[in-house]
Amino acid sequence: MNYSLQEPVMADLHCHTQISDGRLTPQEVVVLAARKGLSVMAITDHDSASGVAAAEREGAGRGIEVIPGIEFNTDWQGTEVHILGYGIDATAQMLRQQLAQLQAYRKERAAKILEKLRVSGIFLSFQQLSANVPGETFGRPHIARTLVQYGYVSDEAEAFRCYLRKGAPAYIPGYKITSSEGIRLIRQIGGVPVLAHPGKEDYSQVLPEWIANGLQGIEVVHPDHDARDEGFWLSTAQRYRLLISGGSDFHGPDNIHGADLGSKGVSLAVVSALKDQALRNQKEG
Ligand SMILES: [Zn+2]
Ligand SMILES: [Zn+2]
Repeated sequence: MNYSLQEPVMADLHCHTQISDGRLTPQEVVVLAARKGLSVMAITDHDSASGVAAAEREGAGRGIEVIPGIEFNTDWQGTEVHILGYGIDATAQMLRQQLAQLQAYRKERAAKILEKLRVSGIFLSFQQLSANVPGETFGRPHIARTLVQYGYVSDEAEAFRCYLRKGAPAYIPGYKITSSEGIRLIRQIGGVPVLAHPGKEDYSQVLPEWIANGLQGIEVVHPDHDARDEGFWLSTAQRYRLLISGGSDFHGPDNIHGADLGSKGVSLAVVSALKDQALRNQKEG
């Protein structure tokens, strides 16, 4: 199948909300998508699908199709690999169990980070942090925001640089499912697993294994990709007969992560191919 990346962007298939580490509520993201003239969007929060239902309801009233999605933060041999899932059953029992477990790990991890910060003379309570976590997913960006709020650092980038990033004093590695586990889980709940923003990583050794586990697409269009990356991953997708995807990785109006909603995305033909595949997966499942 051939895809033109030149067609107008009508669909932004990579958007975060407050449910994970975005700034806006699911409803607000859909309202913004309407203002940007998008006709399709996917809600792809990290390790959570809790924002999907509210976004779907808002979208129905505004003529915007919301694709139920998720973005799993997974581990492949010590490297963090993100796997997107499109067309998932956001209410599946199996997903709920897996996510509840991940959520619990993330909460524990946040508590451990606060303990480590205390060693550096920073005293934030769990309550102070929780006030900045609007959803159910505790992430380092929330800790960064809290550090800014209480004047310990001047911005979130400094919080990561001085305390939270790998190698910094308060770093705690996150628990992650493996990439293959993430791929299989997405298939089990009827979704299409897509390798997110591969960038300049070399996945040539592991790609066949992921495909054998059920990977069906590659995110070709992403703000971190330059034209060469797009070309490389488009041809890789074609070589392995994989679908493509794309989006802005929108996290909020300040664009600390990702880009403006609707500034990156794909045509409706790409959306149809993903939706058709999701339907086939659900029939097989
Ligand atoms: Zn990602
Ligand atoms: Zn993302």
